[in-house]
Order: sequence, then structure tokens, then C-alpha cells
Amino acid sequence: MKDRKSHFGTKAIHGRLEADLAYGAVNTPIYQTSTYKQNGLGGHKGFEYSRLGNPSRSALEDNLAAIENGRFGFCFASGMAAIDAVMKTLEPGDEVVASHDLYGGAYRLFTEVYQKMGISFKFVSMQNVENVEEALSPKTKLIWIETPSNPLLQITDIEAVTTIAKQKGVIVAADNTFASPYLQNPLDLGVDIVMHSITKYLAGHSDVIMGGLITNDESIAEKLSFIQKSCGAIAGPQDCFLVHRGIKTLHVRMQRHYENAEEVAHYLNNHSKVDRVFWPGLKEHPNHEIAKKQMHGFGGMVSFTLKNNQKEDCFKFLSSIQLFSLAESLGGVESLASHPASMSHATLPASERLQLGIVDSLIRLSVGIEDISDIKKDLEQALAKI
Ligand code: PLP
Repeated sequence: MKDRKSHFGTKAIHGRLEADLAYGAVNTPIYQTSTYKQNGLGGHKGFEYSRLGNPSRSALEDNLAAIENGRFGFCFASGMAAIDAVMKTLEPGDEVVASHDLYGGAYRLFTEVYQKMGISFKFVSMQNVENVEEALSPKTKLIWIETPSNPLLQITDIEAVTTIAKQKGVIVAADNTFASPYLQNPLDLGVDIVMHSITKYLAGHSDVIMGGLITNDESIAEKLSFIQKSCGAIAGPQDCFLVHRGIKTLHVRMQRHYENAEEVAHYLNNHSKVDRVFWPGLKEHPNHEIAKKQMHGFGGMVSFTLKNNQKEDCFKFLSSIQLFSLAESLGGVESLASHPASMSHATLPASERLQLGIVDSLIRLSVGIEDISDIKKDLEQALAKI
């Protein structure tokens, strides 16, 4: 496994933060203000109007950049707003090559919003990098990676994709939501833009919706900053405070998510009622070696299917769980279970869902940081009901 970036915990807690300038507060306060008094024209202290910038947001954006080993960070009103901002850097006639096992909301944004605006999309399996190379055309301006992917935990070899993209002058963006910056840093592997649904592991407590973008490239940063201020899908100061607080424990939470998920994956893998388990840490996972190469741990998400693939069995399981909540979303401290075919990926046409492997009995677990014995006990009793 790749060496852990040194001092991650220190960066998560301190980032690049100076103590608050007004009173030396150790934590950046919630600057609940839309505007800032100027001492004469242009006589401001770096902030003029909170759509353009707010100290609570700036502190979080700097912290986000620090933990992703980037120079520039941007926070948006949601993960989707962050993806939308990347799409707005494109022009009609441009083409995007995207991973086919993709968050359903991203697929919907691409096919039902941007396709109508003259941007074309090619969806390919990125488990094999040759598919990406074959899909590129002179019109390709962006490659959109999601790894590990939602919900099948497929892995894309990030470095292999960025090597090809650099030869062709194509920008690469990676949705790093499932790994979190603790387990994977795509900028270090040549990616141009890292995207997060901050809603998930970064916020970590299922109480905020937010998105983030991080880049090292000054010209990309200028474009994203322009889109952020012009389109205005910004994150509010109170939410920024909550996320900033959440990130201070990201390394501790993520380590436990990952350790618990490892136990859950092995437990399910040996269960007589379970058919397949999707977790990149399993040796039989088709991309296990790539995951080992580019991640610092295999993450807290585990998906699995049931023997005989019966929807009724799946619903029985989901109505029997007690510690796990049946809910959308992931990455909070509490364990959640979901049914991708009828929840996060319901927007995909059924035939495409099946082709991808999002079958009726597929269950996705966001393994929380509760005691592992209680987590396993809950899975055991719910599986016994089938
Ligand atoms: N990317 C991934 C991998 C996701 O799982 C999600 C949401 O579930 C998003 C993007 C969208 O983020 P948000 O819900 O914060 O808009």
C-alpha cells in the first residue's frame, strides 16, 4: 500500500489556518454576514460581499486545499453544484468521457442538462484504461473519473488515465467522495480537479449538504472562482463552520470507517445468503492491486448482492435492520443501508442499471463507526430474516 502522506491529521486540524484575526479565536467563527463595511471606497479587509467570499468559507476552502495537497479550494452549495461548476468550464461541441459506474445524480446532470446544451458524453468502463484511450476524440475536453465508484466500488487507475490525458491535453476531474482525502489524493496522481460531495465523509455527521473542488492549476482556479461568484451556488457560513469542525476528526473517523468496513466485507463474504461482495480491499476484487497502489486504505463503503437475487429478500433485509438506517447518503458516523436500484440510481434506465450490475438485490452499506460487534450483530439478525 502507498505510504500515507505524512502529517495528515495535523493538516486536517490546522490546515493553513492562522488564528482568527479579530479576537484570536482558535476556531474560525461563523461570519453570518452578507456584506462588510468599507473604510472609504475599496477600503475593505479582503471581503466585500459574501457571495464572493466569506471568512468562514475561506478558512474551510484553505483547509480543503491543504488536505487534498492542492493550492486552491472552492466550496459550493452541494456536491452537484460543484460538478455543475466543472461542467460550466466547457463549451457547446465539447465532449466528456465519463466513468459508466457513476453517481446517478451526476449521470442525470450530464445526460439531461448538459447534453441538451450541446456537450456530448461517452460513458465507458474505466476498470480498463484502454476503454478511456479508445473513447478519446479531438473533441474530448474532460475525463470524469469516479473512484471508488458508487455503488459498485469499481476502481479506476488514476495515474494511467492522467498519463493518457496529458498526452492529449485533456483535463481530468476525479470525484473523490468515496475515498476521502485521507485515503486517496488524486492531485498527487496527476488529476487536474478533485471533486467532493462534502456532504459525506468530510462533513461526516449527516447534517450538511455541500460540495467542494480543489485544484493546483491557476488557470482552472480562475475559471472556477469566476463561476462560483457568477453563478452563486455557494456554501453558507454556518455550514462551513460545521464542515470545518467535521474535518478536524476526518483521519480518526476514516480509519475506523475503513477498519469496520473491512470486518463487514469479510463477514459478508463468508455468509451463506450473500452472493457477491464489492469492496476493493478483498483480494478477489478485480481492481484490488490498483486500489492498493493508489489508496491508503480501502474505504468504508461495502456493497453486496443476495443469493438468488430476489427483490423481496432484499426488502426483507432492509426492513429488518435496526442499527443501520435505511437512508440515502453515506459517510456519516452512523451506519446506513440503501437500495441503489430504487434510490440513488433510480434515474438510470433499468436496462443500463442491469448492464452495469446494479441488480435488484444489490444493497449498499455505509459502514459507520459504531462498535463493530453491534454492526455485525445487526447484519446477522437482518440476514437471518430472509
Ligand atoms: N458524488 C458522489 C459519489 C455522491 O455519492 C454524491 C451524492 O450522493 C454526489 C456526488 C452529489 O453530492 P451532493 O448530494 O452533496 O449534491
